[in-house]
Amino acid sequence: MIKKDELGGEIIFYCKDCEEIVETSRIGEKHVYKCRKCGTKNVAFGTKRSIYGFFRLDEKEVKNSKKSS
Ligand SMILES: [Zn+2]
Repeated sequence: MIKKDELGGEIIFYCKDCEEIVETSRIGEKHVYKCRKCGTKNVAFGTKRSIYGFFRLDEKEVKNSKKSS
């Protein structure tokens, strides 16, 4: 479920409950997305750049899915 926006950025989904980038399911025709991992609708989405910037994510950390804490 990755689309390109007008700026050519990848749209990604960030679950505020899981605190990580997640796969989502779209609910109906609304712009509401449900986290496939925990099932919450507490999901933010945007371009990769904006999400990573807003939530201060480290790309390496996400890719390796390792957590030091
Ligand atoms: Zn979640």
